[in-house]
Amino acid sequence: MDRRGFLLLAAGLSGCSVAASRPRQAERMIEFAVVIRGGRVIDPGQGLDMSVDLAIEDARVAAIGPGLRGRIVLDAAGCVVAPGFIDLHSHAQTVGSHRLQACDGVTTTLELEAGALPVAAAYTRAGVEGRPLNYGYSASWASARIEILAGHLGDRRATTMLARFADPAWQREATATEEDRILGLLSSELAAGGLGIGVLLGYAAGTRTREYLRVARLAAANRVPTYTHARALVAPPARMDGAEELVRAAAETGAHMHYCHVNSTSQRHIDRVLGLVARAQAAGSRVTTEAYPYGSGMTGIGAAFLAPERLSERGLSPSSLTYAPTGERVASASRLRELRATDPGGLVIIDLLNEDDPADQAMLMRSLTFPGAVVASDAMPVTWTAPPADPQAWPLPPAAITHPRTAGTFSRALRLLTGEGSRALAGEGSPPRGGQLSLGHALAKCSLEPARLLQDRVPALRGKGRLQPGGDADIVVFDPDAVTDRASYLHSTRPSEGIRHVLVNGAFVVRDGHLVADARPGRPVRAEPR
Ligand SMILES: [Zn+2]
Repeated sequence: MDRRGFLLLAAGLSGCSVAASRPRQAERMIEFAVVIRGGRVIDPGQGLDMSVDLAIEDARVAAIGPGLRGRIVLDAAGCVVAPGFIDLHSHAQTVGSHRLQACDGVTTTLELEAGALPVAAAYTRAGVEGRPLNYGYSASWASARIEILAGHLGDRRATTMLARFADPAWQREATATEEDRILGLLSSELAAGGLGIGVLLGYAAGTRTREYLRVARLAAANRVPTYTHARALVAPPARMDGAEELVRAAAETGAHMHYCHVNSTSQRHIDRVLGLVARAQAAGSRVTTEAYPYGSGMTGIGAAFLAPERLSERGLSPSSLTYAPTGERVASASRLRELRATDPGGLVIIDLLNEDDPADQAMLMRSLTFPGAVVASDAMPVTWTAPPADPQAWPLPPAAITHPRTAGTFSRALRLLTGEGSRALAGEGSPPRGGQLSLGHALAKCSLEPARLLQDRVPALRGKGRLQPGGDADIVVFDPDAVTDRASYLHSTRPSEGIRHVLVNGAFVVRDGHLVADARPGRPVRAEPR
């Protein structure tokens, strides 16, 4: 039997029992490509949490056990070795943005809420350019509407999409014929491998609930989830409460409805919305949720729900908004109109919950600790306040801006959920430390649970979110005493700290705390063909 054959055999036979027992003679003889030595290996799926070696070969976890030998040996004493983080909500699908997420422990980053159109072209472009992290896209309902109702073809860029959100043409009610065309386009996008349907419902107030239900039925028929940015809660001109509408779609169609960023969409209604979700789940509906650990949101300033006359729906005013390119706090409704007209795709920070207010912070944490809720960043594309001399430069220069969640969501979530991490916050305000979950539970919310949420139709995710022989070598090694976010609203592209190594398909993207600039080991994550 050749060496590769042995490894596959080891993968097929071994598991937790290997980790807990002495390695076989043959495993001790092999010199693996990489051995991570003596770290605290945590695999939430098996309940494995022990100090042991982990070996990597041919992009896979080859063995877990003591005394393994490797051509490259990483001393991981004092560090945690965990499945790489899987981000279900990232609009940051460029090399530079992937790097920021890599420094936060992310190994797979998926654009599911907005999606891409055409998905095939998005996969092709990422494959040709190369990506540091594994990537994938849902079918984009908003882009389908923009194409059919407003006549703009998608160019697959998040920044273009943000600017087009301001166009009222795509936000109106569709005729029955137009609905048919939108559904037809989405259907072909699912056939092309889309990972479900992203539905930015909250951005298109004219949409009838009937159309939303049709989208959900299409997803159910294809056995893929939808990922909804819900409408506002009980506010005109929404036709119904956004949370009620989402759970109704799950109950009426049988679709898996994933509730995006329940923290920011719900604001101070988080407890009511989570109660509604819990009742829907108890009644047998498949409704899942995600959250990110920041009090402020971000989108393009031209979004319909940021029109001055609509801000009150969310209890906001112009001064709740900060125009990110300049850091300008918007002083008035007239200034807001001006910014929306001159730069509709410009990024804007939206104050939703006050991170300095213990009651708000506790509510935010409840959105993260809700059973089954996964950590997802809503990472924003890195944009530039001045033309970059070198868009591939690393570290990112100060002219690069984003929301701090792009760089810091996972480190921050780990720190807040477990109380791990000892550094002071870099950002404004000091949220109280949560410390409510075990490290294994918090890690499951970052890796295993997102993988399980999608794996029914996405075979690639069955080998991710776990550390088992034969599984993908998407691995994060971090110092639990040092891991912390460093990005703030003022310094939004500071990478996280304490992440020692990140491997994607067995290749280093972060090594010894430093980004590997030329690493492009990311692979596409697609739904299986029907
Ligand atoms: Zn959203």
